[in-house]
Amino acid sequence: MKQLEKIYEGKAKQIYRTEDENLIIMHYKDDATAYNGIKKAQIKEKGTLNNKISTIIYKYLIAKGIPTHYIETINDCDQLCKKVTIFPLEVICRNYVAGSMSKRLGIPEGTKPENVIFEICYKNDTLGDPLINDHHAVALKAATYDELKEIYKLTSEINEYLKELFSKVGIILVDFKIEFGKTFDGKIVLADEISPDTARLWDEKTHDKLDKDRFRRDLGHVTEAYQEIYKRLGSL
Ligand code: 5GP
Repeated sequence: MKQLEKIYEGKAKQIYRTEDENLIIMHYKDDATAYNGIKKAQIKEKGTLNNKISTIIYKYLIAKGIPTHYIETINDCDQLCKKVTIFPLEVICRNYVAGSMSKRLGIPEGTKPENVIFEICYKNDTLGDPLINDHHAVALKAATYDELKEIYKLTSEINEYLKELFSKVGIILVDFKIEFGKTFDGKIVLADEISPDTARLWDEKTHDKLDKDRFRRDLGHVTEAYQEIYKRLGSL
């Protein structure tokens, strides 16, 4: 599939048009940002590793019956995907308390709540992706109540499948952020990447962080952590 002009550039990825109006090429960059773009760096091999990790995860979720935008991985940094209209929502799912939830509610990081926690944030860089609720999302025309119902159902299923996948390789899925889009025929599908950039992944035994918190919190060995996730998932 021939790559045509760039139609979007985000913090970690670029999107290109292709000869087929319903397909795009998603390019993974080595760029890393945190705190709404305030902290920036290049992380060696990050694009390639996230592409490979996300590929394994998407293939696994597709095999479980989750509808996604993924078609195929073309090379080290690029995937061919269905073109979708992204819902301007970040859907966050938490199995353990960490990050912004820990700070906001004063609950120690690593606490395991009895329930799974779902959050939505409004994707808007100027506003810093604020946490919103379903009623805000509907008022903002980001999604309808029916669409939100479907999005939460899929997120819950994805969480159960991903917890199972990561536990097989000795990793705790602490939390993750996903995005959804709508294809030209109106189907809601999982879109964007699932990688250590978008999920908190802790080693089951040591609780070592094997994700982007190594970059956010200056813990070092970022590439090594992503390599470890790829190695473990690749061993399945
Ligand atoms: P928190 O709200 O605690 O910062 O993030 C919760 C989860 O969602 C973490 O796994 C984090 O990596 C992911 N996440 C939240 N917002 C973003 C974002 O804007 N970009 C990326 N890559 N991940 C995010």
